[in-house]
Amino acid sequence: MNIPLVDLKAQYRSIKPEIDAAIQDIMENTAFIMGKGVNEFEASFAKYAHTKHALAVANGTDALLLAMIAMGLGAGDEVITTPHTFIATIEPMIQLGIKPVFVDIDPKTYNIDPNKIEAAITSKTKAIAPVHIYGQAANMSAIAAIAEKHGLAILEDAAQAHGSEWEGKRIGSWGKVTGFSFYPGKNLGAAGEAGGIITNDDAMAEHMRLLLNHGSETKYRHTVIGYNARMDGLQGAILNVKMNYIEQWTEQRRANAAYYDEILGNIEGLILPYAEPRARHVYHLYVVQVAGNRDAILSALHEKGIGAGIHYPIPCHLQPALADLGYKAGDFPIAEAVANQIISLPMFPELSHEQMDYVAAILREVLAIKA
Ligand SMILES: *Cc1c(COP(=O)(O)O)cnc(C)c1O
Repeated sequence: MNIPLVDLKAQYRSIKPEIDAAIQDIMENTAFIMGKGVNEFEASFAKYAHTKHALAVANGTDALLLAMIAMGLGAGDEVITTPHTFIATIEPMIQLGIKPVFVDIDPKTYNIDPNKIEAAITSKTKAIAPVHIYGQAANMSAIAAIAEKHGLAILEDAAQAHGSEWEGKRIGSWGKVTGFSFYPGKNLGAAGEAGGIITNDDAMAEHMRLLLNHGSETKYRHTVIGYNARMDGLQGAILNVKMNYIEQWTEQRRANAAYYDEILGNIEGLILPYAEPRARHVYHLYVVQVAGNRDAILSALHEKGIGAGIHYPIPCHLQPALADLGYKAGDFPIAEAVANQIISLPMFPELSHEQMDYVAAILREVLAIKA
């Protein structure tokens, strides 16, 4: 059997006529940059995210960049965040001269540990940037309480967490501004690059709308120096079709995770994902920890046709590109230990019980030998 980490073909096959019609419509109207598809998607996504404004942008990294600028973050400021994330959480900070200050993660949820945030606050700290890793909301009530006490803003990286919730409240409604990615493999995926920003703040929304389109207030009148961070019309139209399915797909992911939990529950040397009861986990990824030689176990899975992955093998504080920050091995022991033992198993809405049974059987076999 061959089981990819994510099967984008299965998703396309399930809604092909609608996607093809949406593409055809954009082609015939040549609405290639922003336009109707994008406007409709913004309205639909704002409703889904329970926020006033949604802005469609070129990708998730630009979403975070524009959010940081709109929040007034810049050179000399410090932002507290997690080392256990994709580098794109950090890149815009460096580009804006912001210093990322890392805090270790919770060993069960892999999200930033709120108990360690206060010790990292200095006179330069301006914001906390939690990442809802793998689709499970970070502890937003604890983070919001700390932010309130110290007068800090919250920027949420929800690139992996469409529809996730904390204490029944959609992520994105806790922070000032929240960034999403619609990279093809994300829970809501475009057919190329795309991203989104949500906020309830009118002034910030207006500022970001200028920034994403060359600072254009009206055509050829530029009130600020901005960026070309617009979403393509095709991506907007495709995402708009997928909005009709995102909730159903999320429930399928959750059901698949529950099935994995059941069939993997009694395997020696395996730690399953912890589902925090206050969070709605949307399982962008289903990440286990294995005892023993992780890389040998991963290779053995690949040999048997299982498209497992590692998210992520090197914590951000140890990335060569961030060496100037002065962090070293040992600074964040939990993030470092986790990075050495994690494996992401195939996870997507269309995953069948038969496929998951195969993953479980192979994992059991491999762990008995390699653990
Ligand atoms: C995917 C991702 C991003 C970046 O999104 P792009 O659309 O690829 O630019 C940012 N943060 C996290 C946590 C991500 O997973």
